[in-house]
Amino acid sequence: MVAQRRLSWNFGLDRALAHADSLGKPLLVFEPLRAGYRWASDRHHRFVIDGMAEHVGVLQAARVAYYPYVEPSPGAGKGLLEALSRSACLIVTDRYPAFFLPSMQEAAARAVSVLLEGVDSCGLLPIAAADRTFSAAFHFRRFLQKTLPEHLLDAPDPDPFSRERALPPATVSATVLRRWPSASGDLLGGGPSVLSDLPIDHSVGPVAACGGSAAGRARLRRFIDTGLARYGTDRNHPDRDGQSGLSPWLHWGHVSVHEIFHAVAARSGWSPARLSPRSDGKREGWWGLDPDAEKFLDELVTWREIGFNFCALRPNYAEYDSLPEWARATLEEHAGDPRPALYSLEQFESAATHDELWNAAQRQLVAEGVIHNYLRMLWGKKILEWTPHPRQALDIMVELNNKYAIDGRDPNSYTGIFWVLGRFDRGWPERALYGKVRSMTSASTRRKIDVNGYLGRWGGQESLGV
Ligand SMILES: Cc1cc2nc3c(=O)[nH]c(=O)nc-3n(C[C@H](O)[C@H](O)[C@H](O)COP(=O)(O)OP(=O)(O)OC[C@H]3O[C@@H](n4cnc5c(N)ncnc54)[C@H](O)[C@@H]3O)c2cc1C
Repeated sequence: MVAQRRLSWNFGLDRALAHADSLGKPLLVFEPLRAGYRWASDRHHRFVIDGMAEHVGVLQAARVAYYPYVEPSPGAGKGLLEALSRSACLIVTDRYPAFFLPSMQEAAARAVSVLLEGVDSCGLLPIAAADRTFSAAFHFRRFLQKTLPEHLLDAPDPDPFSRERALPPATVSATVLRRWPSASGDLLGGGPSVLSDLPIDHSVGPVAACGGSAAGRARLRRFIDTGLARYGTDRNHPDRDGQSGLSPWLHWGHVSVHEIFHAVAARSGWSPARLSPRSDGKREGWWGLDPDAEKFLDELVTWREIGFNFCALRPNYAEYDSLPEWARATLEEHAGDPRPALYSLEQFESAATHDELWNAAQRQLVAEGVIHNYLRMLWGKKILEWTPHPRQALDIMVELNNKYAIDGRDPNSYTGIFWVLGRFDRGWPERALYGKVRSMTSASTRRKIDVNGYLGRWGGQESLGV
């Protein structure tokens, strides 16, 4: 369990249980957490470990063996999966198209001598359903409108342990446990101090929100009850709490997109008969839901899954050269244009620019691990404006987003960051510095949305000194 870290609404878990049932063999749920990945910090570890602590209880009640492993030093877990595989019939794992997971899984498949199945539980559209990428949301939406109906009713089991099973109990050999001890109760249950022994970045502290499916599900319930009906009007306003706030739990796999979709559908008694037969790529009116729910599903499905598609089919998704040709050409043409200001990574990181709205967004990122979506766009556009070359802007956005954002290192991270540079967008009237790439200004943002409350919370004269 390396990406879809949850015990319900999970195709991978369903597949593993089906194998265990048909073979009459025990199931072992193995959930590792590496230490040596780039940007590993107290923030990300705490969130994942919250989920692990929850899994102990659920799997004990279901009488299924669980092996949570938190790597004590980079590389210490090497050989563990191979050791486990020696007493396994097969391994089922999560297919995930970004960050270090694809290469880790390829290496794992080479190291073990049993079947290793990668199961895709990333989105409503199976990754394998598309064999090409899309240059804009409009084209992907058209594809979804044609292809998604046949997959919409195919959901993972919401409660896979509700059925009594007569699976024999699994055990992990004492030799394996001696070399790779299971995460202790102290580590799983403890506060920030238990993380201090791990070789991860302690300067990026845990966020206030709790990880795990229960917390993610509570957030989903609150959004369905109080947020969804005003999503269209309030989403862009940082003072109105108009977004779902679900991206951290989606990123860590604690909540499934299928569960969210079913909650939205259930709220309005939706059935597939409501889907429009048209596939013209238009945003409104396809799902047969009210405009707020349609808008939300467009973000959750079109915008989220266009990134999974891109990462899966374009191994260079994180490289500057993966930008569309028109964007690279126009950015290059304007790379020599004078910049109104230039900042280093350290100045950006410390929220030490001249722009109080930008600084406020950076402060929120450092403190809470998220930035409100509208300001996240502005945050990226200004980094493009205040660095000598778009390649440097890209490096700075990736570094800050993936270090601090609790939903970072995700296909969505690369969708958002590369959107700033023109991916999935069209050309706009040409202007200095941006060329034909869409520009944004703090002044126009302040005209469009009320940021006074936001500035009250995150404004301030002092730089962060990080
Ligand atoms: C520079 C930049 C960096 C970004 N980095 C990330 C990131 O690291 N991780 C991340 O999950 N999102 C990222 N986004 C996209 C977007 O800002 C967040 O998904 C959104 O703000 C999350 O808040 P929410 O869960 O309340 O979203 P909601 O508005 O409630 O939407 C529900 C879900 O839909 C998806 N979604 C919403 N907006 C977008 C979008 N514009 N693009 C792709 N998917 C979307 C997310 O999965 C989100 O959780 C980035 C955007 C930009 C401009």
